[in-house]
Amino acid sequence: MERIHVAVRARPLSTEEAKTSPWRISGNSILIPNNSFKFEFDRIFGEDCKTVDVYQARTKEIVAAAVRGFNGTVFAYGQTNSGKTHTMRGSATEPGVIPLSVHELFETIQQDVDREFVLRMSYMEIYNEEINDLLAPEHRKLQIHESLERGIHVAGLREEIVASPEQVLDFMEFGESHRHIGETSMNLYGSRSHTIFRMIIESRDKSEDEDIVSSCDAARISVLNLVDLAGSERAAKTGADGVRLKEGSHINKSLMTLGTVIKKLSEGAESQGGHVPYRDSKLTRILQPALGGNSNTAIICNITLAQIHADETKSSLQFASRAL
Ligand code: ADP
Ligand code: MG
Repeated sequence: MERIHVAVRARPLSTEEAKTSPWRISGNSILIPNNSFKFEFDRIFGEDCKTVDVYQARTKEIVAAAVRGFNGTVFAYGQTNSGKTHTMRGSATEPGVIPLSVHELFETIQQDVDREFVLRMSYMEIYNEEINDLLAPEHRKLQIHESLERGIHVAGLREEIVASPEQVLDFMEFGESHRHIGETSMNLYGSRSHTIFRMIIESRDKSEDEDIVSSCDAARISVLNLVDLAGSERAAKTGADGVRLKEGSHINKSLMTLGTVIKKLSEGAESQGGHVPYRDSKLTRILQPALGGNSNTAIICNITLAQIHADETKSSLQFASRAL
């Protein structure tokens, strides 16, 4: 696994919307017939596909690699209502990438008889370039620090030790119930903040005697980030007043920075000693340890094929194609 994996997922349309959709999907290409607009991706999932198909395309491997000590990050990108949260969190009837990953993570570590694991989780949101801890609602406006011991980390972010998938999902639910007070619509709010769900996987070789200085592979620590990004629609559309405009410009800046960072990484800039602008946004700075180096990255670009969203869909596909 080297390159950044980019998949596109189209959400189901109503029969009315489907009649007027300008898009055609053919294999791994998506295009507008009689128009120069055509893109190819690693995978394109049409409206009949299930989240489990999307999960198996790449996230599954990223989860397995995380157990072996490699950091991983999976993003859901797309305009509001394109299916990011449906893909990542899922619903009662269709589990999302997060619960699927968590279940597989626990299954995998239970099968590994040679190592002893400790799993922790954290759950945070970035709203207006402020980091809030969803597991400890009183922890707001957290700062990013860097130290020799811990590397780049969010200072004061709560990490809960978790022993079962059910426990993880309970903590997530707790986190969801404490998000930004005063918003009337959860979906509107969700569209303006990035959420980072993180599993921290620490393991130790059981055969190593604790008194003996261990070989370098004896202890491992890795992180898996599953990120539900803020809606990618342009600031102009999010509303007229000052607050909405500020939110919009923060979102634009962090998504633009993410696009640049991913493009640089896919071009191999980091390994060639080039500059990757992680520090230009909180999102990329927090994720830095799990984006560069030996990390595995996947982007799930959520789109809607409806005619009225054609411009947004084009810009989402353009964003995603920069990572290829
Ligand atoms: P976003 O998080 O991108 O704003 P949501 O995930 O909230 O979008 O999706 C918007 C609505 O569409 C929700 O009601 C969701 O259940 C539904 N939806 C999205 N994708 C799918 C899908 N693949 N299958 C069925 N329903 C979907
Ligand atoms: Mg959402």
